[in-house]
Amino acid sequence: MNQTTSFLDLGLSQSSLNAIEKLGFTEPSPIQSSAIPKLLKGHDLIGQAQTGTGKTAAFGIPILESLTSHNNFISALVLCPTRELALQVSKELQKLVGDRHFIRILAVFGGDSIQKQIKSLRDGVDIVVGTPGRIKDLMSRKILVLDQVKMAVMDEADEMLNMGFRDDMEEILSTIPSSRQTVLFSATMPPAIMELAKRYLKKPLHSKVTGDVVTNASIEQSYYEVSIHDKPRLISCLVRQFGMKSVIVFTNTKKAADETVQTLRRAGLKSDAIHGDLGQSQRNQVLNSFRSGSLGVLVATDVAARGIDVSNVDAVFNYDIPMDREGYVHRIGRTGRAGKTGKAISFVSSSGDLRKIRGIESFSRVNMLKKSPPTSKEIRASYVNQMTLLAEQVGTQEEYKHHSKLAEEIIESGVDYKKILAYYLKENCPLDVVDTSHVVRESKSSGGGRGGNDRGRSSGGYSHQGGGARKKSFRKAGPKGNFKKSRT
Ligand code: AMP
Repeated sequence: MNQTTSFLDLGLSQSSLNAIEKLGFTEPSPIQSSAIPKLLKGHDLIGQAQTGTGKTAAFGIPILESLTSHNNFISALVLCPTRELALQVSKELQKLVGDRHFIRILAVFGGDSIQKQIKSLRDGVDIVVGTPGRIKDLMSRKILVLDQVKMAVMDEADEMLNMGFRDDMEEILSTIPSSRQTVLFSATMPPAIMELAKRYLKKPLHSKVTGDVVTNASIEQSYYEVSIHDKPRLISCLVRQFGMKSVIVFTNTKKAADETVQTLRRAGLKSDAIHGDLGQSQRNQVLNSFRSGSLGVLVATDVAARGIDVSNVDAVFNYDIPMDREGYVHRIGRTGRAGKTGKAISFVSSSGDLRKIRGIESFSRVNMLKKSPPTSKEIRASYVNQMTLLAEQVGTQEEYKHHSKLAEEIIESGVDYKKILAYYLKENCPLDVVDTSHVVRESKSSGGGRGGNDRGRSSGGYSHQGGGARKKSFRKAGPKGNFKKSRT
């Protein structure tokens, strides 16, 4: 991979450099260093990178560099699998526009007013970012005309194929002049993607985040052996132990998603589910409360979670091990984003699950740490910790003034407030320990306990690097060339 270390080396316009500086990016991410020069030279490109690596700017900066004035036609098209991703990409592009106020960007996707989109298109747009279904719809109405497109990007191409957009994508690409530059970004490269690339890209160059590593090194990946019955309880224990504010729990079925929500709510955690049975407005409602932080635990099936763009997710739980290895890569890419660290925690309930974990480990070249659930002592310590933080938070804040006064009156009245506290704790702080002994016996064929145990020997897995304030920069590091976000 190209060893470029500064945005200046990439030969970008002053407008791009100013916008990048304003965004606080100090250096290009590895995918940017590799892809931007190739795209600026006009090559077709296959980029292997997942969300969180800076891939949007990797293709977005070259798109914007190619525009020098506003035209009455669409110059660039970005295809995305979901409305959320289309919005996220268009917002990121908008931020990179800087002082090039002539550039018009429009996101088009189903579920949003088509009339509004038609009006914007009639007013003139330079870059369209959208989902294949809505783009085809607008094309069939002759509102969206792609005969002047110079650059076509397929973002998260593997997801688009998984979602059954293959025919739509091919139809759209075949209406764009073949002189175009074509870019395909995908987190994984299954044969279907390579076939697509072969058909629609001309002598493409390749950019990969790293040699073999496909998951982000800022994500600590671990697993717990736990019986199916104890999974929700273990989630609530871990959320509390690590003081997690925002987590996504993935289940393989809608039924498991709904049941998990019920159990987590009973354990006092604010949680809600999104899955295929929800209407768009319900789904948006749940996602908005998750984004705003008022909902701490989002339980989701894979399909429903596609394109979710939330940057502060502390952890992703694989309540069920995903059906395939690519699915795992996508799921855990929801955490450890934008320079932050995250946890990916998988639950293993059978030797079959353990075999899947070993498969994922070898696919993503990572050793997962086998962890033990918190002990009774650790659970108690985490509550003491939480209460200390809570007291600090309440402090002298105005909003607690009246209740602080009430608390004083209660204490002065001679009530045994320790008993009151015990009542509160009983309601809110479960003390049960999750027993995971003998849940799973690893068979010899499943790989022989390579992961080790966090209470025993070290696994050599990628571990959490610790906290601290971080600059918004990416840096290549690590023995396997995996990139890490730099920490200050
Ligand atoms: P993406 O992989 O495109 O979804 O980007 C993930 C996040 O990284 C977004 O919030 C970007 O704004 C941010 N980002 C992109 N490039 C850089 C960079 N060179 N340095 C720091 N942050 C970046």
